[in-house]
Amino acid sequence: MNSQSHKRYIELIQKLSELNEAYYLQDAPLVSDATYDELMQELIAIENKYPLFIDPNSPSQKAGTNVNESKLKKLEHQIPMISLANAYNADDIKDWETRINKIIGEDTYREYVFELKIDGLSIAIDYSNGKISKAATRGDGKFGEDVTANIKTISTIPHEIKLKDPISIRGEVFISKKDFLKINQAQAERGLQTYANPRNTAAGSLRQLDPKITASRKLDAFFYNFFEQNTLSENSAATPYSTIKTHFEALQKLHELGFKTNINNNVLCKNISEVINLYEAWIKKKHDLDYDIDGAVVKINQLNLQTTLGSTAKTPRWALALKFPAEIASSKIESIEYEVGRLGTITPVANLVPVELAGTTVKRATLHNFDQIKRLGIKIGDHIKLQKAGDIIPEILEVIFEKRNGSEKEISAPTKCPACSSKVEKYEVAYRCTNIASCPAQVQR
Ligand code: NAD
Repeated sequence: MNSQSHKRYIELIQKLSELNEAYYLQDAPLVSDATYDELMQELIAIENKYPLFIDPNSPSQKAGTNVNESKLKKLEHQIPMISLANAYNADDIKDWETRINKIIGEDTYREYVFELKIDGLSIAIDYSNGKISKAATRGDGKFGEDVTANIKTISTIPHEIKLKDPISIRGEVFISKKDFLKINQAQAERGLQTYANPRNTAAGSLRQLDPKITASRKLDAFFYNFFEQNTLSENSAATPYSTIKTHFEALQKLHELGFKTNINNNVLCKNISEVINLYEAWIKKKHDLDYDIDGAVVKINQLNLQTTLGSTAKTPRWALALKFPAEIASSKIESIEYEVGRLGTITPVANLVPVELAGTTVKRATLHNFDQIKRLGIKIGDHIKLQKAGDIIPEILEVIFEKRNGSEKEISAPTKCPACSSKVEKYEVAYRCTNIASCPAQVQR
C-alpha cells in the first residue's frame, strides 16, 4: 500500500469508528447514513485493492461497535449477530444472484423471501423452558448489551411461549413515526435530549438503565429468524424443528409461536425479477407505513442452500439488504430564530434557503438545542444536508464543511429570553426562560 493510501486508510478507520460510537452507543449520529455509507465504500475499496493490509479491527470487518463503554452490562452472543451486505439498485441485486449461482449452480431450484428492512435496532432474545432468559442488542456481533428487563416491557413480545426447547430469536425493535414525534415533543418541552429519527429513538429507548423509561416509550418489534441454541451458528440456517426446510416456514412458525412477524409484507418469490419489482414498488410505497423502513431484505428460502452459501465474518451470503435511495436535500442556513415553548424551553430554529424535499418546500428546520448545534458544529451561513425525520420533521443531518468560506458565524446561546428579555437558565440540554408567570410566549402557548 502506498503511503497516501495507507494514511487515508487509517483516517477512515478512525472516522468510521467514531461515527459508529456516536450512532450505536450515543444514539446520536454525527452524519447522514448516506455519508457514512460513502466513507465505508471508500474504506472497502482500499481493502479490496490491498487485501493483505486489512486491519482486523477495521469497521468493515465486523458488525456495529464494541460495547465496552456502554453503561449496560455486556452479554455474549452464543450465535454471532452479523450484519447484511448491501445493494443499492437492481444491478446490485442481479450481481448478488450471479455470485450465488457460482456457488450453488445456476440451475439449482431456489426461492427468495422478500422482507421489509425495518429501521430499528437488532435484538436477540433467548427463551428456555418457554420463558425469556435473556435479551441483548447486537453490539459488535459477539458481545451485546443486556436489555433483558427492558425487552420484557414491550407488550407485543410474548413473555411465555409454548415451545420448551432453548431457542434464540432475532428481530428488530422499532417505534412508530407517530410515537417518535410525540416522544421528541415531550423531550424538547422538558429540556431533554431529542432524537434524530425513529431508529435512534427506538435504540435510545431500549438502551435505558431504567426499564420504566423503556416501558413508557411504546416500542414494538418484528421477528425474522430463530435458532436452536448451543447447536448452530447464524450461517447454518437453523430452526428447532427438523421438519422445517425453508425460511418462509420458519417465519410462519415464529408467527404461530406468538411472535409478531411482518406477515402482510413478507413475500415468497419464485425468481429475482419478482424481488426487484417488489423492491422498486416499495421505494414509492414506503411512506404509507406507520414505521420507518430503510430498504428491503432478500433471503434464499431453502435452508440447505443457506448452509451451502455460508457467511463471511460480517455478512451471510444468502441474504442481501436492498437499500432505498436516501431522500436528502442540501440547503443553506440564512439565520437562526428562537422559539419559546410552553414550559419556557428555548428552541433554536434555522431559516433555510427554500428547498424541495420529499414532496414539500422546506424553509425551516429545528436545531433542537445548543448541544446539538455544538455536536454537529453548525454555524449561520453553513451549507447543510437535511432529511425528514419520521417522514415529517425537517432535520439537519450534517454540515457540508467543504463548502465553508470563512464567512460563517457562530451561533451563541441566548443570555435572555427572546420573548420577554428575562433571565435564562440552562436545564439539561436546554435553555429556559425563568419568567414562568408572565413570559408572553409561554402564556400564549
Ligand atoms: P444495516 O442496518 O444496514 O443492516 C443489517 C440489519 O438490518 C440487521 O442487523 C437487522 O437488525 C436489520 N434488519 C431489519 N429488518 C430485517 C429483516 N427483515 N431481516 C434481516 N435483518 C433485518 O446494517 P448495520 O450493520 O446494522 O448498520 C449499518 C448501517 O447503519 C449503515 O449502512 C448506515 O446506514 C447506518 N449507520 C449510520 C451511521 C451514521 O453515522 N449515520 C453510523 C453507523 C451505521
